Amino acid sequence: MTTALQMQAADQGGMRRNNLALVLRLLHDKGPRSRAAVAVETGLNKATVSSLVAELIDRGLVREVGTSTERNGDAPRLGRPPTLLEIDGRNVACVGIEVNVDVIEVVVTDLAGRRVFEHVRPLDAAGHPPSRTMGSLTAVTRHALDAVHDRCPTVAGISVAVPGLIHAGDRAITFAPNLHWRDVDLGVRLATDLGINVPISIDNDANLSGLAEYRVGEFAGTPNLITVTGQTGVGGGIVVEGRLLRGASGFGGEVGHMHVLPDGPECGCGRRGCWEALVGLKSLLRRAVPDLAATLEADDSLGPDDKVARVVTRAQSSDAVTLAALHEHGRWLGDGVSILVNLFDPEAVVLGGFFRDIAPWVLPIADARLRELAIAPHARQCRLAASTLAFSSAALGGALHAAERVFDDPAVIDVRRT
Ligand SMILES: [Zn+2]
Repeated sequence: MTTALQMQAADQGGMRRNNLALVLRLLHDKGPRSRAAVAVETGLNKATVSSLVAELIDRGLVREVGTSTERNGDAPRLGRPPTLLEIDGRNVACVGIEVNVDVIEVVVTDLAGRRVFEHVRPLDAAGHPPSRTMGSLTAVTRHALDAVHDRCPTVAGISVAVPGLIHAGDRAITFAPNLHWRDVDLGVRLATDLGINVPISIDNDANLSGLAEYRVGEFAGTPNLITVTGQTGVGGGIVVEGRLLRGASGFGGEVGHMHVLPDGPECGCGRRGCWEALVGLKSLLRRAVPDLAATLEADDSLGPDDKVARVVTRAQSSDAVTLAALHEHGRWLGDGVSILVNLFDPEAVVLGGFFRDIAPWVLPIADARLRELAIAPHARQCRLAASTLAFSSAALGGALHAAERVFDDPAVIDVRRT
């Protein structure tokens, strides 16, 4: 039987963990500050803050750096200037991996978001069974963990981005049309293959790209922000009032399968006329470089950025076919974006993935189309911009997601042995 004293102890333990998280997140979000400033901004008393900071330092998550010039209004400073604290976590590896049709990308950051490892491996997932892609994923993950082990021996978590429907709270892929995967228990299989006891989560790639944009992109912190990512498919990360929209089952944000053209081209999902069948990578190559498209599609040594580079080269040399194709691409892009803007009324829509590379040609056309089709006066002020993040934004989002586990509960990281 649980006694009242035991319940009280559990409550206090829970409260302390919450307060550890509060202090760590403040230092992460607001940057270096003194213990006194942390006390003022969290509302905790100074003795509690000192104790919490001591524990965070013991866990290697916070460190002391220099002294502060913080002033208390115009009052003259008395005594020694206070010591500043900042996020440490240099020993903590946050692993983000993106598995896509033609590439696996991995980004490892430490807890402060410093990139410590990156790796890109071309892949041909569409032409092979899940077991082969699984083997590549395991090999890339193991390679990354080995590479960072000396610098970041503590793994906060591994978050894998996949272009498909991921059941909320699950580690299984329900359906990934462009990978031809259905009901693949990816999280459990990766944990078994790696043989390590590390938290692994699976998420939709566009959701993780959206998270990366919301946290570290040009429009970071924008409460209503939509990220549309062009890969083989087209995904959407929709942030509404500061929260990623997932829907009832976790399947929200499948913007690529909005039906926009009756009897349009066939989509990877098996239906016709989806938005991604009109603005995805395959359609871009077939429209903009028709003589090269079949060769590029078949070449599994090339990543998506290599393929799009062919389109960019032709556009830069003012090839008439390519320029006309990009104009049409921009119109279709604008049509889909206007539907999203009319539905969600965001402050900004960010175009990521390969849309970034063709932005100089398609963005002005898509933007004009958006102004034409957005219905609300405010919606017409919505910013449409190319992402400033690299191709690996989903992998970066995965690393940020893995770090969240520590920010939510710093006690998951053990106290360092000295
Ligand atoms: Zn579709």
